[in-house]
Amino acid sequence: MFNLVIFGGPGSGKGTQSEKLIDRYGLTHISTGDVLRREISAGTELGKIADSYISKGNLIPDDLMVRILASEVDSLTPSSKGFIFDGFPRTIPQAEELAKMLEKRGEKIHAVIGLEVPDDVLTERLLERGKSSGRADDNAETIRQRLDVYHNTTSPLREYYIKDGKYKAIHGLGSIDEIFDRIISHISM
Ligand code: AMP
Repeated sequence: MFNLVIFGGPGSGKGTQSEKLIDRYGLTHISTGDVLRREISAGTELGKIADSYISKGNLIPDDLMVRILASEVDSLTPSSKGFIFDGFPRTIPQAEELAKMLEKRGEKIHAVIGLEVPDDVLTERLLERGKSSGRADDNAETIRQRLDVYHNTTSPLREYYIKDGKYKAIHGLGSIDEIFDRIISHISM
């Protein structure tokens, strides 16, 4: 298996580039944001809890998020060539749990693709996306909070994965195809 993390701020292009990586390499996509939004649409108890955090731009607590991820990994493992983790991990404890979870399965993270995009561009992209996404968190106030959370809580993972030798910094401005070409130049599989 070949397991990737796609990492970056909100609006950095993680979902878009994940789709292209899945097409190219046959990886299985795990987007924790998509999982949570499905629960919200289905009106489940978990969805109600998730909505109370997402709509304010805050993170779902680690213990709950790790359990959700584990159940996704368990349900998808058999036919998988590898996973692409999109939106997870978002904290150091989540990264530690992910490493343990994969180790138990004889697996590991091979590379972390870090899409690097300045805040003003992220804000612009998210406001533009908000016009059609229908997402409760794509509005000016929530975007500000998501960026704060990203800088305070999520971005330390960059250093964490640099130390691990897994972080691949990708210049995240340009066309979708240009960015994709930069990503694949870092992937050997
Ligand atoms: P995303 O679709 O990845 O932008 O995620 C949307 C929202 O879902 C985030 O702003 C968080 O509120 C929540 N979320 C997604 N993934 C995680 C995670 N790994 N840890 C905590 N909260 C998450």
